Amino acid sequence: MLDPEMLASGHANPSTGRIVLQKPWCGTLMAYLRHPGRASHEELDSLDMFTHESMHIRGELNEARTECQAVQRNYRAAKLLGVADVNAKQNALDIYNINYQQRGQIGGMQAAYYSNECAPGKAMDEHLSDSTWAP
Ligand SMILES: [Zn+2]
Repeated sequence: MLDPEMLASGHANPSTGRIVLQKPWCGTLMAYLRHPGRASHEELDSLDMFTHESMHIRGELNEARTECQAVQRNYRAAKLLGVADVNAKQNALDIYNINYQQRGQIGGMQAAYYSNECAPGKAMDEHLSDSTWAP
């Protein structure tokens, strides 16, 4: 079980492929999907958590790399969940520019989920054609 501490929110088990979102967070994600055009900071976190845990299921265990993979795929993940393209792009950019950068500033436990190499053109950029930060 990964992420017992991440926002006290989600768990992923790569050996079973099972993802668990702690109780309030599933509702937060559903609220986000009802009104992605006015997503709250917390609702954006719930999308990021969904994508983050999905990255663990693929087999990545390092938290900073997992989170950077999620940051780059939140745009794709939102669209897969049915969010309109324009909202998905803005939501994913907001997660990167606001939620993610705050995590780096908070430090402590949150810092394990942050890397300053997670940025366009930096070491963790996977150059995905539909990356959150692709033009
Ligand atoms: Zn994690």
